[in-house]
Amino acid sequence: MYKTKVLDISDSSIRFAAELIKAGETVGMPTETVYGLAANALDPQAVAKIFKAKGRPQDNPLIVHISGMKMLPDLVTDIPSTAKKCAEAFWPGPLTMILPKKEIIPLTTSGGLDTVGIRMPSNETARKLIDFSGLPLAAPSANLSGSPSPTKASHVFNDMNGRIPCILDDGSCAVGVESTVIAFEENSIRLLRPGFISAEELSDICENVIIDKGVIEAVAQDVKVASPGMKYKHYAPKADITIIDSGTAAFRSYCASHASDDDVLMLFTEAEGTGLTQRCIAYGATSEEQAANLFDVLRELDIIGAKKVYARCPAKTGVGLAVYNRLLRAAAFKVIKL
Ligand code: AMP
Ligand code: MG
Repeated sequence: MYKTKVLDISDSSIRFAAELIKAGETVGMPTETVYGLAANALDPQAVAKIFKAKGRPQDNPLIVHISGMKMLPDLVTDIPSTAKKCAEAFWPGPLTMILPKKEIIPLTTSGGLDTVGIRMPSNETARKLIDFSGLPLAAPSANLSGSPSPTKASHVFNDMNGRIPCILDDGSCAVGVESTVIAFEENSIRLLRPGFISAEELSDICENVIIDKGVIEAVAQDVKVASPGMKYKHYAPKADITIIDSGTAAFRSYCASHASDDDVLMLFTEAEGTGLTQRCIAYGATSEEQAANLFDVLRELDIIGAKKVYARCPAKTGVGLAVYNRLLRAAAFKVIKL
């Protein structure tokens, strides 16, 4: 049992956290996407502490965070030319690239795979933590496995109090959903997990962007998938969420006739709830706002004890695809198309 410290950001608090990392401990680390639970990516015992703190399945690989391109050649055996172009265009930023790993990356980090996901975050604190510790940092989202990802230090504290020594509190995460994950094939990019860097933006770098089936379809537990994280139950609040795929008017009339007064509605804006009797929570008018608010709203559903929730359906393009992908999993793929 740790006495979990929550520290404001300063060079000295980041140095303190870097010392913990060097000593083989885990640290709650802010990034621009969501808060991560960081440890030395090269030390299997340190990485094992991440899996233990989260209760994460061992075959679900971790993303390795670097602060500069010079760290990359030590970690991977090949950097395809498309990957170089993606790095130039989107790093530092919310893009993870799957590359063939060198032996220095332990199988504990890669979930037993011979590839590793690498990302260069833009958040200054994350970059300093990497620099001060002088190590690549393995970091999955800092939530208990299965819970919504944390976008505030308080979310990390709620899940990890007693399980980790320290959290660096850098306020709310700007993006709010996890990084875009891509793999490289002969002449194409395969999108394994949508994020803030959209399929449309990636197609400016490489014409062929294939959206993996797992992005919007449920994957059976026993199936071997390109992105192991996609098969697990995810982001799930206790509430039973149904996505209503329709326009505003149809959503409103569906809720007026089907929802009981105890049900909760997840709308884009407050105004959409005018005249409806149910409790309404707005999660954002634009895809970017929805991404930034989604996980906080999913946690709020638990706090208010919501049982049944009807949610407006995010756009399925641009950043909206990332929001849709997460909300689908939170809703256990329940969608009503009107
Ligand atoms: P999280 O750390 O919670 O953001 O989840 C990271 C996700 O990235 C994993 O669950 C995988 O879906 C994906 N990922 C990480 N490394 C790999 C890899 N080597 N191959 C395929 N997918 C990966
Ligand atoms: Mg996660």
